[in-house]
Amino acid sequence: MKVDDIFSYADLVHAEKANLQRGMNFRIRPAYSIFLMSLRKNAPYQDAVDQVTGTLIYEGHNHPKTQRCRNPKVVDQPIVTPKGTLTENGKFFTSAMNFKNGVQKKAELIKVYEKLQDGIWSYKGFFELVDAAFVQSGRRKVIKFYLRPVLKKSIGQIEDLPHNRLIPSHVKLEVWKRDRGCCVRCGASKNLHYDHDIPFSKGGSSLTAENVRLLCVKHNLEKSDRIMCLMPWVLVGAQTAFQLGRK
Ligand SMILES: [Zn+2]
Repeated sequence: MKVDDIFSYADLVHAEKANLQRGMNFRIRPAYSIFLMSLRKNAPYQDAVDQVTGTLIYEGHNHPKTQRCRNPKVVDQPIVTPKGTLTENGKFFTSAMNFKNGVQKKAELIKVYEKLQDGIWSYKGFFELVDAAFVQSGRRKVIKFYLRPVLKKSIGQIEDLPHNRLIPSHVKLEVWKRDRGCCVRCGASKNLHYDHDIPFSKGGSSLTAENVRLLCVKHNLEKSDRIMCLMPWVLVGAQTAFQLGRK
């Protein structure tokens, strides 16, 4: 799985072998936790990504709706349950503080998935939980978790790409709609991933949809092979061929 790969919710559940019903999943695996995030306008929580540093600012979650708490949006986000145990907010908050104070040597490793639209998810890679804070939001306090991208980490079979290649969500959605959720070479709708027409290393931008397209795994690998083998001046021709092939 590579950063910016996209897949259905069913694929996500299959890949993690877990029914991810909640957004925050502390130590769902011995080696890592999972956050599900969204940058959509109508998302329930205000997550954000700093496009320069790649830092993810993830909002904690509300008190569950109960008889005693009918409007969770007006109460502080809880770190303990009524029984006195830690909520998911509390577990992550404690870990962030322990790391910050040097009690915990390693930062909590968190794997992040982003919801692009209903049923469509994107893999954002691994992050380290380096800090957390209560922040005033209107009349109540919400928790913000600060996650630093892990640039290159090999965990099992997973290899992350550098996070400076992250494509903003609005570009992803634009590309997804334009390419109709299919590989632009063969029309496949599975194992898709966002591909830079002109590689990032050669100055291609991920900030506009023009330079980004959907490719299936097979065609993405084919392209990588060709780029490795071809001389730079041939590459320009190959890219023009790709662009023509799209139409
Ligand atoms: Zn394809």
